[in-house]
Amino acid sequence: MLPPDNHVHTEWSYDTSAEASMARSCEQALAIGMPGVAFTEHLEFTAGGEGDAIAGVATDARWWTRIKPLDVTGYLASVADCRERFPGLRILSGVETGESHLFAASAGAVVHGHHFDRVLGSLHAVPYKGRLVAADALFGNMPDDDVMSYYFAELLQLIERSDLFEVLAHLDFPRRYWPKGAHLYREEDFEEEYRTVLSALAGTGRVLEVNTKSPLASVDLIRWWRDVGGTAVSFGSDAHLPQRVGDRFKLAVDVVEAAGFRAGRYPYDFWRV
Ligand SMILES: [Zn+2]
Ligand SMILES: [Zn+2]
Repeated sequence: MLPPDNHVHTEWSYDTSAEASMARSCEQALAIGMPGVAFTEHLEFTAGGEGDAIAGVATDARWWTRIKPLDVTGYLASVADCRERFPGLRILSGVETGESHLFAASAGAVVHGHHFDRVLGSLHAVPYKGRLVAADALFGNMPDDDVMSYYFAELLQLIERSDLFEVLAHLDFPRRYWPKGAHLYREEDFEEEYRTVLSALAGTGRVLEVNTKSPLASVDLIRWWRDVGGTAVSFGSDAHLPQRVGDRFKLAVDVVEAAGFRAGRYPYDFWRV
């Protein structure tokens, strides 16, 4: 049996198209034999609120004009509706918090004000020259390798300064946009940076996501996670369309198994060493 997909976006995320649908994503999960699915909608902010560190590091917190606030009430009602319609599927609620070390108060108010089953932590944007900019926008402004080092340094800040999330999503996000071609990105060139951030994550007992929208992590990378004390892995397709739910999970399972992680007692558990 496939592991549950712990990272799915629906019509409640601001960056999805008209075909996005929570109900159809549930149908897809059932069709491919998944035990569960977590709807982790984007939780992003266009401005810092009181108590957010962003004010001290960037004058412009908005890194993408499309960002819209999450309608938590509407989203949770949709989750409740799908739980009724699809009793055979374990449906988890959740959010993907962006840059939660910079928006600790704003994101914390939402996360602590509701019950979410899955809280993912992400770094899509980084402070650069007084603004928050999309991480991939750094390519061209500095050598490609330096972009990754810059990103990993900020990722370490996210891990060390925010305890709002349980699962670290797509830990090497800019690799998706590697200028020479994503397939030419070499994890081994950044082993030291990976080990540093993974070690910090493991030290807080949190979970590493294997993201199947990004180029797939290698067995070596998941072994580094294990080496530094990482004990749990989550699988996430980062689907923004129903047909992407569970995308490439068989491959991801092979990689994670080869690195020594196994399914838990229940099919919807994180995989552990
Ligand atoms: Zn993301
Ligand atoms: Zn996502």
